[in-house]
Amino acid sequence: MALLNILVYPDEKLKQVSQPVEEFSEDLKKLIENLEETFRSFPGCVGIAAPQVGRFERIVLVDISHKPKHVNHGFLVLINPEVTFYEGSSLGREGCLSVPDFIGKVERAKSITLKALNQKGEKLELQISGYEARAVQHEIDHLDGKLFLDRLVSRRNGLSKRIETPTSP
Ligand SMILES: [Zn+2]
Repeated sequence: MALLNILVYPDEKLKQVSQPVEEFSEDLKKLIENLEETFRSFPGCVGIAAPQVGRFERIVLVDISHKPKHVNHGFLVLINPEVTFYEGSSLGREGCLSVPDFIGKVERAKSITLKALNQKGEKLELQISGYEARAVQHEIDHLDGKLFLDRLVSRRNGLSKRIETPTSP
């Protein structure tokens, strides 16, 4: 396994649209392992999309299970994900490994229905809501070359500087 390099805004490559995965090869398995190791190396991080490490393939990983007050499906590997239904809307704050210094206020659907394949190529259909739905929508945006910066509710006050919690003495 290996930690992968994260592309950081304003890298133009973050605007690239990713291609569907067609082969469930050993190479894909390795990429997923490395993506997992990479996002888990950032404390508090809830997901990653393959294009963030310069692999323009439709793969996202999400795991919000360390945020116990939110319902969730555990560790999700979503290949070629497709939202088939959006419901409601909610406003919330988002950060991103590719935009390390800022957090922004973004409106997302409150719940979604999602079709995807898992890492074995098996079909999944999931109902996802709340914080997990926000995380999944954020990661899928990366596959279409979009960042949360493109979806800020307000250019003037939708963005704030990330303030690191000081480590206790
Ligand atoms: Zn992101």
